[in-house]
Amino acid sequence: MKAAVLHKCNKIEEQPLVIEDVNILKPRVGEVLIKVLSVGVCHSDLHVIEGRTPISLPCVCGHEIYGVVEEVGAHVTAVNIGDYVVATFIWPCGRCYNCASGLENLCENMAAIRPKGTLFNGATRLSLLDGSPLYIFLGGGFAEYAIIPESGVKVLPNELRKETSAILGCAVLSAYGAMEEDLGWHSPESLN
Ligand SMILES: [Zn+2]
Ligand SMILES: [Zn+2]
Repeated sequence: MKAAVLHKCNKIEEQPLVIEDVNILKPRVGEVLIKVLSVGVCHSDLHVIEGRTPISLPCVCGHEIYGVVEEVGAHVTAVNIGDYVVATFIWPCGRCYNCASGLENLCENMAAIRPKGTLFNGATRLSLLDGSPLYIFLGGGFAEYAIIPESGVKVLPNELRKETSAILGCAVLSAYGAMEEDLGWHSPESLN
């Protein structure tokens, strides 16, 4: 497949991403293969591209992904082949202390793999044509396909099957999280 690969951090206008053919494996247990139909460009991607956020290189950025599920790994129950989905920038592991405390947005295992640029098992499903590892920043959506853990993939209702739904994956959730924090929407006391 084709992907826009970040080989070296720099100002985007001085060092563009390189669109090239890369290898992609099949999704493993709990993972989902998404055919990317649209993807947002978030400022966090720019931070990575410009070297302000540490990440393993080379890598594929892009974490506001709208697309259709083309294949699922074993034991995936959240989505089915053919579902239109959005992939988010957080993939709660469901097992760490924070996940068990209802703070999935602060998943400790997700925080650990983010700078490594891998999925939970310490690898990605991508490689360059010479076989060397190709990392991802929160999904690797700047490509024709992306493989994401199912906890980071949500099925969209019919009315949201459109390219602009990609922003649900980060821009909308980030703003919602900020509002929730500010207004105490999550707090029962706020109803008093
Ligand atoms: Zn973002
Ligand atoms: Zn967790």
